[in-house]
Amino acid sequence: MDSEFYIPESAMAIVAHPDDIEFSCVGTLARWVKGGCRVSYVLCTSGDVGIAEPGMTRQNAAEIREAEARSAAEIVGVQEIIFLLEPDGLLQPTLELRKKLVREIRRFKPEVVLTGDPTVVFSNATYINHPDHRAAATAALDAVFPASGQPNLFQELETEGLFAHKVRKVYISGQNQSEMVINIDDTIDTKLAALRMHKSQFIDWDPGDRVLEWMAENAAGHNMKYAEVFRVITLETDETWERLRHAQNSSI
Ligand SMILES: [Zn+2]
Repeated sequence: MDSEFYIPESAMAIVAHPDDIEFSCVGTLARWVKGGCRVSYVLCTSGDVGIAEPGMTRQNAAEIREAEARSAAEIVGVQEIIFLLEPDGLLQPTLELRKKLVREIRRFKPEVVLTGDPTVVFSNATYINHPDHRAAATAALDAVFPASGQPNLFQELETEGLFAHKVRKVYISGQNQSEMVINIDDTIDTKLAALRMHKSQFIDWDPGDRVLEWMAENAAGHNMKYAEVFRVITLETDETWERLRHAQNSSI
């Protein structure tokens, strides 16, 4: 593999539901973890309306899905998983959610934040993007920029020992303008294993073939078998990041 492959020191994935990371970006995160990157998962909801079984309550579903998400995270070796407990199916990019995300960003101090594409409404001819996915992505981007880096915004978080933190890059998964193609040939098995931990979502089908097909489509023409694709927004240049990195870490 490419010896120039970029591995951030730390990364935070912010998504709506327990299985969103596994579908979109866990192959990349698994590569980064292998390279020494600290990773945090932030799940806005616990997927509590995502199990349609007779007698299933939202509370029971949340417990099942949080346990599945923890198992999936363990396979990859990520540092932590945070559940924000917003209502599944009703997620809104409110100022309250933005503040919750700013809190997590200022606490974990990620170099990179990964999230979805809030502009995707129609992914293809047979699927409407879940409104929670759009809401989580909007809230995540709005928390990253400019909120989390502005000392006088949500200044009250200082009482929790949390200070402004600027994120270096944002990785956006989805289908609009994805120009960063990441080879996940070495982590495709980890991706599938992590995805299959979400057993409640795959009662009578296995996601393997479908995911392999999508990842192969991403890789087509790039001299690899499987890939995850992103649009990458670089908020800090190499130069400004070097300076910020030391300043921001010294406040830990
Ligand atoms: Zn989802």
